[in-house]
Amino acid sequence: MLTKVALVKGPELLKYSFPAPHPMNSRRIESFYKRIEMLSREVLDALEIVTPKAATTEEIALFHDPSYIEFVKKKSAEGRGYLDLGDTPSFPGIFEAACYVVGSTLELCRTILSRGIKRGFNPMGGLHHARRSSASGFCVFNDAAVAIVYLLKVAGLETVAYVDIDAHHGDGVCYEFYDDKRVVFADIHQDGRTLYPGTGFRHERGRGEGEGLKLNIPLPPGSGDEEFRAAMLEIKGFLMEHDLDFILFQCGADGVVGDPITNLSYTAASHRFAAEVLCDVANKKCGGRMLAMGGGGYNPENTAEAWTSVVKAFIEKP
Ligand SMILES: [Zn+2]
Repeated sequence: MLTKVALVKGPELLKYSFPAPHPMNSRRIESFYKRIEMLSREVLDALEIVTPKAATTEEIALFHDPSYIEFVKKKSAEGRGYLDLGDTPSFPGIFEAACYVVGSTLELCRTILSRGIKRGFNPMGGLHHARRSSASGFCVFNDAAVAIVYLLKVAGLETVAYVDIDAHHGDGVCYEFYDDKRVVFADIHQDGRTLYPGTGFRHERGRGEGEGLKLNIPLPPGSGDEEFRAAMLEIKGFLMEHDLDFILFQCGADGVVGDPITNLSYTAASHRFAAEVLCDVANKKCGGRMLAMGGGGYNPENTAEAWTSVVKAFIEKP
């Protein structure tokens, strides 16, 4: 018995593409869509294709400062320069492209909350470095953070779990909800002493009402499937201690060996394992409701394989 999975698919997601030679470009998404088409007919039939949708300014403002949204609009019209100190270039239409990323993640939230499909995947989502008032690390609008506020404020859920396995620490989500007890955060990443953004240490466990609700697991460069597996089981134990209403899963593929900008050594088996563990937790804790976002991954072939293994696990797990 296969599980229905909602997949965001459409040319609008390819617009979030920085000019060559920037590693964040549409080849990653194209490569993934091609790879998905190679799955068996039976597995493909379990996919419900969701068309990308642009978020409104009001939706983006659930998380982002209105003045920052205006700044992105202006830089998008100019189409040059940088949105941050040098990692995130502007290009004509970057505002609209970023709106499609956020809107597509929100569309999956709505699909999962209302339409009886418990799992979804937005390959272009998971832009976890963007802060309330600034772009950072290739990320303009933080779709995951907007989704968290949407789920809590608009949908009225009480607790959202955010799990991030991207090679980079999900600082934009971690620190913007650091004292929020409604956000249970867990993140496996390459040690911040050796990789951007230089954060996410073990002692960072949240603050105030959020104390103890953030779990950061840094791994040394070169860590592979074995280290990943142990970290993922620690996250499972951590999540099982809490009541959860929804799981957001940033499944960045830049920890797969051969990525041009990081130094981890996972295979796609780690992504499959993480997806299976989280399906299990979601089934036990929140009626199975889980939304995955692609995140990083700068070797297009490896990224396609890792994301496809997540989608396959979502379909094959009850
Ligand atoms: Zn990354």
